[in-house]
Amino acid sequence: MTPKEQLVARALDAGFEAARIAAVGPLEAQRHYEAWLAAGRHGEMAWLASEKHRARRADPSLLVRGIRSVLSVALCHPPLADAARDERLGRIARYAAGEDYHRVMKDKLLALETWIRTELFPGSGSLWYADTGAILERGWAERAGIGWVGKHSGVISPAFGSWFLLGQILLDRELEPDAPVAKDHCGTCTRCLGACPTGAIVAPYQVDARRCISYLTIEHKGVVPRELRAAIGDWLFGCDLCLDACPWNRFAPEARESRLHARELEGWTLERFLGLSEAAFFELFAESPIRRADREGFVRNVCIVLGNRRDDRAVGALARTLGHDVSPVVRLHAAWALGRIGGGAARAALAHAAPRERDPQVHDEIRLALEEAAA
Ligand code: SF4
Ligand code: SF4
Repeated sequence: MTPKEQLVARALDAGFEAARIAAVGPLEAQRHYEAWLAAGRHGEMAWLASEKHRARRADPSLLVRGIRSVLSVALCHPPLADAARDERLGRIARYAAGEDYHRVMKDKLLALETWIRTELFPGSGSLWYADTGAILERGWAERAGIGWVGKHSGVISPAFGSWFLLGQILLDRELEPDAPVAKDHCGTCTRCLGACPTGAIVAPYQVDARRCISYLTIEHKGVVPRELRAAIGDWLFGCDLCLDACPWNRFAPEARESRLHARELEGWTLERFLGLSEAAFFELFAESPIRRADREGFVRNVCIVLGNRRDDRAVGALARTLGHDVSPVVRLHAAWALGRIGGGAARAALAHAAPRERDPQVHDEIRLALEEAAA
């Protein structure tokens, strides 16, 4: 076998669905990415626009001296909602329902990189990446022919859809590059645009992170814009709707990696999540990507989901959160949820909290929630 064939075989053995090579050179995706940043569509993810990150993304030789090839790998996660998952807990994006994919990807890439350095190309230089924003992952995957970038801006494989995560290894050895997918297979389809509840896919191939539920429930810190809260629906962490809508996912295989399968959260309810302390949150989600939202962001999301469910059995727990939570952001969303649920008990809880609340923004939200609850 050639070194490239050995590398691909080793990657497939490690559980990746695909492993393909791109030659190094200016990426077409760079121009699109710079325009996305210039339009401010990255929201608060300021690190994506930092000079350091921009320079590295434009020129990967700043990352690995003498870089010649980029290996892109795809790791599939479960394509179907896990029947064992308790829907009472709100919806969690499929990639995030199991162990943190960063850890899973890191273990696999590190093992592969070690083998490359010691056995395939002894003494070679290389570096692995998994969702750090330091390289244009989708651009390299597209050039290597893992798939094309769809109108929802994710990569779609014509062979196995889009329920997968990307990783890369940058190599200082020249390997025969693979051909990109011959064309964009989205054609006239616009299903993902129609499926997006917040209008975040502002045009084909253009996602405005500031409207995207995935961004709002994970990366966005602080108050979620009022006009977007209802559209978040049941999503506690992330969103799968544009991928769910994509017809190419009929080809998605079962995930081989058991660490990415959904974990049980036995005994937990949304109301119980409201009472999580900082320490308890990090203990519960120690191995889950959910910890990225931080305790404040996660409990804020719980309030939004409870408000959208409009189940008045949650009023007591939301009232306690409004009265006692240390975070004004959480209290504000608890007030919003009570206003959305409405009814006598919710109104009473809001009226009780109003004169006691010292934070002006939370106070304003209570006023608006009381108006909504009375409507
Ligand atoms: S992840 Fe959800 S909110 Fe974001 S673009 Fe897709 S459908 Fe829209
Ligand atoms: S849903 Fe249709 S338009 Fe959107 S990414 Fe999939 S094929 Fe392309």
